[in-house]
Amino acid sequence: MAAAVTAAAAGCRVTVLEHRERACKKLLATGNGRCNMTNLHMDPETCYRGGIPGFASAVTAQVTVGETLDFFASMGIPVRNRDGYIYPRSGQASSVADTLILEAERLGVRICCGLHVRAVEKVKDGFSVTAVRTGEPSSREGKSPETAYSCRRVILSAGGKAAPSSGSDGSGYELARSLGHRIIPPLPALVQLVCRGKLFRQLAGIRTEGGVTLFADGAPAAEDRGELQLTEYGISGIPVFQVSRFASVSLSKGQKVTVRLDFLPEFTEEETAAFLKTRRAQLASREGQDFLTGVLPRKLGCVLMSLAGISLSDPASVIPDRKLELLKEQLKGFSAEITGTKSFDQAQVCCGGAAVDQVDPLTMESLEVPGLYLTGELLDIDGICGGYNLQWAWSTGISAGRSAANSLKRTVADQ
Ligand SMILES: Cc1cc2nc3c(=O)[nH]c(=O)nc-3n(C[C@H](O)[C@H](O)[C@H](O)COP(=O)(O)OP(=O)(O)OC[C@H]3O[C@@H](n4cnc5c(N)ncnc54)[C@H](O)[C@@H]3O)c2cc1C
Repeated sequence: MAAAVTAAAAGCRVTVLEHRERACKKLLATGNGRCNMTNLHMDPETCYRGGIPGFASAVTAQVTVGETLDFFASMGIPVRNRDGYIYPRSGQASSVADTLILEAERLGVRICCGLHVRAVEKVKDGFSVTAVRTGEPSSREGKSPETAYSCRRVILSAGGKAAPSSGSDGSGYELARSLGHRIIPPLPALVQLVCRGKLFRQLAGIRTEGGVTLFADGAPAAEDRGELQLTEYGISGIPVFQVSRFASVSLSKGQKVTVRLDFLPEFTEEETAAFLKTRRAQLASREGQDFLTGVLPRKLGCVLMSLAGISLSDPASVIPDRKLELLKEQLKGFSAEITGTKSFDQAQVCCGGAAVDQVDPLTMESLEVPGLYLTGELLDIDGICGGYNLQWAWSTGISAGRSAANSLKRTVADQ
């Protein structure tokens, strides 16, 4: 939609083909319905993963966060800044979706919903796009009537495979592949991690500040810190999402993936040991089950005490140094094996997608098929949590819309 609005504003006649019942469906779910549109802290080399070095930087330098904010301001969306995390002033993701649609309609963009694009073919002077109406019996099997569209330029903005109920069912990969683009196998990213062991059933429902370090075959692969969520299947929460794509990739390579959770990330090992000793002296008569009450959620404290072999009913004064040391290890280095990730259904984005070495980062034009542009999550770039994935969609969309319009103008001028 960002591409459509940009191309239409530059004077192009634009048609959007959308197979869901409305455009911008996924946007409605973003940021828990509040839409974390972008982020003022932009370091493309660390905020984007995948692709090839420099690609995300080149794209986000073409269409910056500032230009994106101007783009939305010009449509009537002022924003709210929460420590650099940008939301629409309204606090409603639906207002971003509605505004994009209103602006597209104002500019004369034809938005055709309920049309599944099944094929895009390069023909002389442009493309032939074949779509079938969705919702009709057997529409995906090819029995319903097809509509063919002729156009001079195609912008492929079909998303990835994450949250397919919002429309991104992975069919964009097949369209890109049919046009000669290599697809890096997509995997869930920004997703919950499933851990081995029944212990997590006891921990379900706990939220606590902590650090997470991910290891692949024993080597550190990623780390983050923030509010951890412990669930009956494993771990979730923003820091887990941030490291999850590395778990996905390592698991797909058959590597052994483990995590180490640090429940006291503000303390070093030595500080934790000293803290526990002081606490034992200070709270000498307190029963084991409440020794960590006030430091951690009580349920978590009890589980860690038990793992360290400490009685939950004896007073703290009798905890031997050796067990206090084991408790420190549980607090600073609670380990679990990752057996998998939750599925694409639960993932916020996916990693993998159309290889970016076949796309020009200055225009988003395909290097394989002139006149074809690729944007957003369809590409082999995934952002961290915090508005970076939508910024990727805006930057690539605006860039593609602008480049397609410019190249069309040049072609028309040459004729
Ligand atoms: C629950 C959730 C919360 C999120 N929150 C945030 C957030 O707060 N901030 C952030 O930055 N990112 C967030 N994201 C990620 C972000 O929404 C996506 O990265 C972004 O929407 C990708 O944009 P896109 O245009 O590439 O693809 P999409 O938004 O997926 O759009 C692709 C469109 O193409 C249509 N389509 C696909 N194939 C076809 C076809 N063959 N024919 C016709 N139409 C087709 C789809 O129906 C869809 O409308 C969130 C994602 C989820 C799932």
